[in-house]
Formats: sequence, C-alpha cells, structure tokens
Amino acid sequence: MSEGQVTDWSRGLTLKAGDWFIGLYQPSPETVGYWEGVKARELRLRHCASCDRHFHPKRIVCTECGTDKLDWKRASGRGEVYSFSEVHRAPSPAFADATPYVVGLVTLEEGVHLFTRFVGGPVAIGTKVTVDFRVLELGNLMPVFRA
Ligand SMILES: [Zn+2]
Repeated sequence: MSEGQVTDWSRGLTLKAGDWFIGLYQPSPETVGYWEGVKARELRLRHCASCDRHFHPKRIVCTECGTDKLDWKRASGRGEVYSFSEVHRAPSPAFADATPYVVGLVTLEEGVHLFTRFVGGPVAIGTKVTVDFRVLELGNLMPVFRA
C-alpha cells in the first residue's frame, strides 16, 4: 500500500478516489450537504427546485430536466420498509456485539430509497418507519429508521 492510501475496517480494501476517502461515513464532494445534515440530526436529500423532485444524496443531476443545480432539502423522515435483512454474522469484530441487527432499504415519502439500519423492534416489508440518529458501532452518528 502506498503512502496516502486509506483503508477501512474491511482490511486491505483501498477506498480512496483522488483526495477523497470514499469508505463508510465519509463525505464525498457530492454528499457533503448530506453529512452536514446528519451532524445537525436532519435527513437531507438532493432536490431540484424547478421540477420539485427529490433524489438520493449521491445524485448529481436531475433525472427529469438534467440540471446539476440541485439543492439540499430536509426530508420528512418518514417512510416504509422496502426490504430488509437480519445480520447474524458480524462483518468485522467491531460489529460482534451488535448482532443480530437489521439493515435494508427504506422508501421515503419523497420517493427516494436509502440503505439504512432499522431499530426499535421487528420490521416487515411495508412497516412505517421514522428517522432517528444513533452513534453506531464505528463511533459515527448515523441516520437509522425506527419502526
Ligand atoms: Zn429538474
């Protein structure tokens, strides 16, 4: 591994693009506004003002009109479970005490899908959930969704 490369808990997998670390929890140029929102305990999505459409935080252009002038808009924080999986085998030692835990996709009221952690009890496809913020296993404040 050359100087300046960064690895995460996945051991040996380089997760750097140019000057940007693209591993877990790290902002990329496209997602800085999302992570600023997380710090403020707000869920923020990309938004096209002319089409009034919301997009995933990593989206860089509007799929309707093609503009790259997307702003950040606070999401309602409400959605429903689109899919989920219960994790029983920890992906790294840091997660050993957390298993079993539930991850999956939430469909937000704004129509955007996010990968997330589900907390607060059992979920099923279609369970109504709301955003919450928790410090997870690696010590980072993260948005999670509560049943
Ligand atoms: Zn647009």
